Amino acid sequence: MVATYGIHWFRQDLRLQENPSLLSLSKKVDQIIPIYILDLNQRIGSTSKWWLEKSLISLYDSIQKHNGKLNIFAGDPEKIISSILKNSNVKYVSWNRLYDPYSIKRDTKIKSIVTSSKIECDSHNGYLLNEPWNIKNKSGTFFKVFTPYWRHCDELLKLKDIKFKNTKISYANSKFKNEITIQDLNLTNKKEQWIKKIEKYWIPGESNAKLQLKKYISQKANNYSVGRDRPDKDLTSKLSPYLHFGEISALEVYDTVNIEKKIDPENKKKFLAELGWRDFSYNLLFHYPDMTHKPIQSKFNKFPWIKNAKNLSLWHNGKTGIPIVDAGMRQLYKTGWMHNRVRMIVGSFLTKNLLLHWKNGEEWFFDTLVDADVGSNSAGWQWISGCGADASPYFRIFNPILQGQKFDPDGDYVKEFVPELNNIPKKYIHNPWEMSMEDQKKYNFEIGTSYPTPIVDLSLIHISEPTRRRGISYAVFCLK
Ligand code: FAD
Repeated sequence: MVATYGIHWFRQDLRLQENPSLLSLSKKVDQIIPIYILDLNQRIGSTSKWWLEKSLISLYDSIQKHNGKLNIFAGDPEKIISSILKNSNVKYVSWNRLYDPYSIKRDTKIKSIVTSSKIECDSHNGYLLNEPWNIKNKSGTFFKVFTPYWRHCDELLKLKDIKFKNTKISYANSKFKNEITIQDLNLTNKKEQWIKKIEKYWIPGESNAKLQLKKYISQKANNYSVGRDRPDKDLTSKLSPYLHFGEISALEVYDTVNIEKKIDPENKKKFLAELGWRDFSYNLLFHYPDMTHKPIQSKFNKFPWIKNAKNLSLWHNGKTGIPIVDAGMRQLYKTGWMHNRVRMIVGSFLTKNLLLHWKNGEEWFFDTLVDADVGSNSAGWQWISGCGADASPYFRIFNPILQGQKFDPDGDYVKEFVPELNNIPKKYIHNPWEMSMEDQKKYNFEIGTSYPTPIVDLSLIHISEPTRRRGISYAVFCLK
């Protein structure tokens, strides 16, 4: 008998376990041909390229352990898949779905090309907890506000009988004319200094994703409600890059945390809801496909953003003179990641204090984050700048001094990434410019020399007493 083959096209699902497309294909064919195509038209940031290279190496090795081979290509997926189909005896093509407008358009076209050659083409949900088109409110439309959205999704998930089946899969060891090696993809330049720094913080790959989840559950999960706001404490899961590249599925993370008896209900609920924000971002992107570059609230099309290359560069480099902002931006550059609380602070500072366009922030984050993700990044930037659905209002500005004092009370986070401030007293760690000349001398510190003078005068923003306690200020901008 002639063996039957099926192609599994890996994209943001770089794992062998709990992979719905692999599982479904394994029931239909004798052997799976695993392929990865670096789509040269798809947006990818520099730090993501580093992660991708490591992740592909890890996947390649895992498939090799199953006596198969991951076939690597670069170029236009439509042409590459068509050429593989012409030269092989493939009966099925399958993948896990993506939800950004570029991928949807590309995949729809490829599906029609494959099926028109009388080859079956299948796609699956291996990325989200719930797909955008399945979640509708009582009036039959999509949710624009997170809380009711998540209440509805969470109810559906609790009803679902989540079972992970991992059957033995047989991988083919095929050779194709135009295939290349992972090194040929030229994803990284090993000599770059930033790569050496990032490498100290992360180990990409499926098995490390599982370890990261285990570590979260055993060491952090019962302090998550506090940890999600405290950049000075390492209490969040740091699963975001693993989830972005699909080295672990969101459903596995959701289910493992949900059934874990050692996590108390309050912390569990908070964590699962944060995971819900990831889905919510894709829910928004699906319904507002332009939101990567256009504000969801159209009145922001006319917002008088300022162009100021010097301030943007100071923000990029963590030299704004505002300690918590600089610490965040330097953490991002050094480690490829930033705590969510600080992402909000630096985002509010860029768009609401400096009045620079949110797209500047979106682009910098996309290039430098290990977890750079079209959905979560554009939703995060639209939220913080106030132009998104269910967004933080444009007049609500995070006061970086009050936020720092509240969420980094001893200044440990600031000191870790802004060592220039190591020796000044705790009282001034978030506002060093307020030190008297006498104190500056005493602590061998000079504002403007040891550390920059702030590039904006924060005192110009009105702070009312109730908002002072919440670390938020209100200001009035003109929206015409
Ligand atoms: P945890 O707190 O442990 O949360 C668990 C998981 O839930 C995360 O891994 C992530 O997948 C998801 N999650 C948590 N918070 C959010 C959120 N607010 N929005 C969407 N998903 C969330 N997240 C990205 O994955 N990629 C991005 O490009 C990205 N850009 C952002 C830009 C801005 C301006 C802001 C404010 C937030 C952004 N986020 C982004 C969301 C969030 O900051 C990160 O997901 C989170 O900090 C990752 O750390 P963690 O894995 O320890 O999160």
